Amino acid sequence: MSVDSLPLLNSAARRFYTCALLCAMAAVSLALDLGLFSSALAKPAIALGSRIESENGQERLIFDLTAPVKISARPLLDPDRIVVDIADLEFRLDPSAGRSINFSKLIKSFRFGLFAPGRSRIIIDLARPAAIVATRVDRTKDGSRLIIELAPTDAAHFASAASTAAATPPDSPPDTPPPLSSNPASLRAAGKAVIVIDPGHGGVDIGALGKHGEQEKTIVFEFARVLQTKIEAEGLFHAVLTREGDIFLPLAERVRRARENNAALFLSIHADTLGAPSVEGATVYTLSARASDAEAARIAEKENLADQAAGLEGKAEAEEVDDILLELTRRETHAYSREFSKTLISKWKDAGSLNKNPTRSAGFVVLKAQDVPSVLLELGYLSSEKDLSRLTSPQWREQAATKLAEAIKVFFQTRSNASQPGEGERAKVPRPE
Ligand SMILES: [Zn+2]
Repeated sequence: MSVDSLPLLNSAARRFYTCALLCAMAAVSLALDLGLFSSALAKPAIALGSRIESENGQERLIFDLTAPVKISARPLLDPDRIVVDIADLEFRLDPSAGRSINFSKLIKSFRFGLFAPGRSRIIIDLARPAAIVATRVDRTKDGSRLIIELAPTDAAHFASAASTAAATPPDSPPDTPPPLSSNPASLRAAGKAVIVIDPGHGGVDIGALGKHGEQEKTIVFEFARVLQTKIEAEGLFHAVLTREGDIFLPLAERVRRARENNAALFLSIHADTLGAPSVEGATVYTLSARASDAEAARIAEKENLADQAAGLEGKAEAEEVDDILLELTRRETHAYSREFSKTLISKWKDAGSLNKNPTRSAGFVVLKAQDVPSVLLELGYLSSEKDLSRLTSPQWREQAATKLAEAIKVFFQTRSNASQPGEGERAKVPRPE
């Protein structure tokens, strides 16, 4: 509508109307300039390719993008890494693109993915200390180019740059994981026991990688979704996932979510790779201070590095409550965890292959909730062709998840029958109706 189309207005009203129209147009234009509408209107930029270029001893890691993005980069110690934070970037490139780079003198490998809602991250594992020479986003004729330029430096300079970066407050908001869509209070009110399913890894942390690019984070998430449906279908329990999409979640946050939901059982789902392709089958791990064997120690060490893989500082540690009274609870919880492990293995036999030694234990951070029986199930090995075809088959997933849901039911029925009058009041050991 134009001002001229309002012939009946007197001149004062016309002046007012014109002014209001111009002011509104100016405000919209200013808002567009300030980018106030950009998050609501713009689609996230997409990364379509990556490569490394070398020149005069320096190296450039380059990503081809569909649109420009805002980035910030900082060095991180132990191990030496460069973490690049990016506002809203979708990665549509081979997830194994940054694995095992052997031609670069500075870059050992790099990873990329979603870190938090609307925030993406690239993590560069360094082969030797490197300084960030420049980070920039250039416009090209068909999109944009994200460039991280690195030059060799010595360990002392790298350490000093990392401590300066650590002392500088980040310009991005703190790393708050996305909330769960389930509400713990309403779940409790519904009166059913809650099973918390934890699909390992996610977002920038891909986990293990299969020969043909299969990703652990996706395989375990798909399994967890089917399992959730199976458990809910039984009608006895509520099943909650720790992560509800392809997003990174710190290990301690997974434990916190189990406790927050007052979980009756916590199941962390993973898959592994091994140099020996003949090793196959599922393994069920429980928590122990000392690993049951070398393989269990290796797996726990690898899984406990998940936070580091996503560029978090420090070692992953679950919230420890140092209370002598908790010791009894802890022992009881461990006994339940081991019992569930046995039940699960006896049921799993019918659905999928078991590892030669399926009952193991080690110091997994994610199993450290003192009052929630917890097991970590490695579904199989992505390095085994047989396991890989099982793990990627929807039919197998259905069968295995059915057996797992049955194991949960049997476990709680047994517990219910074994408990003395009054004992079952403890929320952690519910009796299905
Ligand atoms: Zn894993």
